[in-house]
Amino acid sequence: MKQIESILSILRDAADLTTRIQNDFITPATWEKKDKSPVTVGDLAVQTLVAARLEELCPEVPLIAEESADLLVSEDGKRFLDIIVKYVGKYLEKITAEKVVNWISRGKNDDSLKGAPKFWTLDPIDGTKGFLRKEQYATALALVENGEVTTGFLGLPNLTWLKEKHDFTPEKQSAGAPWGALLYAKRGEGTWISDLGSSDFVKLHVSEHSDPNDASVLRSVEAGHTNLSQIDILCREIGVPGVVAMDSQAKYAVLAAGRSDLLFRLISPKMPDYREKIWDQAAGSIVVEEAGGRITDLDGRPLDFSQGAMLLKNRGICASNGLLHDLALKAIEKIGA
Ligand code: AMP
Ligand code: MG
Repeated sequence: MKQIESILSILRDAADLTTRIQNDFITPATWEKKDKSPVTVGDLAVQTLVAARLEELCPEVPLIAEESADLLVSEDGKRFLDIIVKYVGKYLEKITAEKVVNWISRGKNDDSLKGAPKFWTLDPIDGTKGFLRKEQYATALALVENGEVTTGFLGLPNLTWLKEKHDFTPEKQSAGAPWGALLYAKRGEGTWISDLGSSDFVKLHVSEHSDPNDASVLRSVEAGHTNLSQIDILCREIGVPGVVAMDSQAKYAVLAAGRSDLLFRLISPKMPDYREKIWDQAAGSIVVEEAGGRITDLDGRPLDFSQGAMLLKNRGICASNGLLHDLALKAIEKIGA
């Protein structure tokens, strides 16, 4: 429990950090990575903060994380190192540009840690495009032991948990009111949620909808991350009336809280060979499972987190409240998704 408390406090600081950056910039300094996806000073600042704190907390456990410091050692990137140093300085003492590069580089985004019996995996800002639109994003951190996710954390600064209503709102709350959401799940101990400003955790449970007529589906906002027209066909095949578009692993929190029932990551026609990254799925998957839900790939296979940075043995994602899972997998097979 002591370690969970420490990680929760890291995630609260990370949420404070991303919120400050979002409030201060119209558009935070952004680059395009080799795969054409964006990375911002926010992503790199959060990876710096979390990597530094994890090193302090458990130096023996390595880290697989999304971002690399390569961009910062270019001429262009050096200008942004100063911005990161300034922002992260609030949480880390005696921070320097050199230390920022070292902390970011502590996270490996290749397969150099493949086979490690125990590691953390971090997505500092999952849903960077949502972050840039000032919509949903998540800081996602999970512990993987012997190929199985054993603990997961999600920090959701733009999705406020209203305990009284047992529901989320993306609306900004007035000062002093609940702010954002913070979730953790531990294998065998359930999924828990509080707003970011308190430690008033309650246990989550997925919905009890077994009739697809009562259900809704969660999907990515970005067309390039899924197959939008096939999701519509799939919903018609299952008989689900509603689709909710949301960025990031915030979707898994909504599923775990019983506010939606199904979640699909279909294969984008633009990237037919895409394999999910472990930092995009690890925390979210345990959050759903420990709330009583189920998560597999599109072929019904369990997710295999022992393959390095990617889920090489899996194809896409199907997550559900459990009750609708078999129906969904059958429909996926029938439409050839
Ligand atoms: P979402 O917010 O659900 O769209 O998920 C965001 C994540 O999708 C990002 O962190 C990316 O790593 C990931 N992503 C990028 N390209 C693809 C793709 N072709 N298929 C599925 N996910 C992708
Ligand atoms: Mg991500």
